[in-house]
Amino acid sequence: MGSIDRQCTRVSRVNTLMTEASSHRSAYGAIEAGGTKWVCAVGTGPDDIRAETRFPTTTPAETLGRAMSFFRDAQANEPLQALGVGSFGPVDLDRTSPTYGSITSTPKPGWAYTEVASTLYEALGVPIVFDTDVNVAALGEHRWGAAQDLEHVVYITVGTGIGAGVLIGGQPLHGLVHPEVGHLRLPHDWQVDPFPGSCPYHGDCLEGLASGPALARRWAQPAETLPPDHPGWRLEARYLALALVNLICTLSPQRIVLGGGVMEQPQLFALIRADVQQLLNGYVRSTTILEQIDSYIVPPALKGRAGVLGAIALAQRGVSG
Ligand code: ADP
Ligand code: ZN
Repeated sequence: MGSIDRQCTRVSRVNTLMTEASSHRSAYGAIEAGGTKWVCAVGTGPDDIRAETRFPTTTPAETLGRAMSFFRDAQANEPLQALGVGSFGPVDLDRTSPTYGSITSTPKPGWAYTEVASTLYEALGVPIVFDTDVNVAALGEHRWGAAQDLEHVVYITVGTGIGAGVLIGGQPLHGLVHPEVGHLRLPHDWQVDPFPGSCPYHGDCLEGLASGPALARRWAQPAETLPPDHPGWRLEARYLALALVNLICTLSPQRIVLGGGVMEQPQLFALIRADVQQLLNGYVRSTTILEQIDSYIVPPALKGRAGVLGAIALAQRGVSG
């Protein structure tokens, strides 16, 4: 455990006592730290957001600087119990690592090995609870959205990249590093789909075949301009269904929430559900999948708010947990 981490733990214990002693309306900070934009908020949940700002992700110094100045202003009004951060990655979630709370080997220019949690902790002096953007979105949907009262949940975003947050027993799954569902390898029929894939590491992994930029390159037009009956959507649904089946067989989630820009195409849901049932071929004997698949594979209830609200949920869990 590094010294900052030890300090965080100590401050966290102090804050636990403070939380118990103070009113339930204590404020929490939240950051949805995306590769395109950051959203910062102060509050306790969807019905109690006391301040919010958003700004584009530029350099680490400028972006972290804007976040720190927002929370310093907030702290002038009321103390923050903790700050939850859901970050783009890959990130270091190993609490024993000297680089805990950092973005690690990202290809995003200027951002590799950026110390996010320790920089925020040193500036603000509140406990920082840090996780992946997708684990945090999963927590948001679990707490206030489409996966309430379920303990085993997968949240997948299909956008510029593809990623999944996984809750097992209500806890975000980290494991060795953290899941990298976007880089699952899938069967790829080169006769049907000669597109080689767009992932710089793997070519035709899930993200290389089915992310928004992959769709744009395969069809030579932005994904949002493909008509709803374009054959590209059937192929897209097939790849996503193959990924879902792999996740269903390994993790046995009770519900799968599918979000992100590409999932704004509503016709995808019916295609994916039918393909999942066909690919499983009746083997997973659950009425949830066999008879209620419409409520098994669902869109997010919080829409674009899952990340920032999930970061509030993360901060609350970090302090009381
Ligand atoms: P990000 O992944 O950067 O956080 P989004 O989840 O909005 O952001 O994903 C952006 C990607 O989703 C882009 O590749 C874009 O082309 C695609 N996209 C956005 N809106 C739609 C839409 N209505 N239909 C299909 N694809 C879309
Ligand atoms: Zn890949």
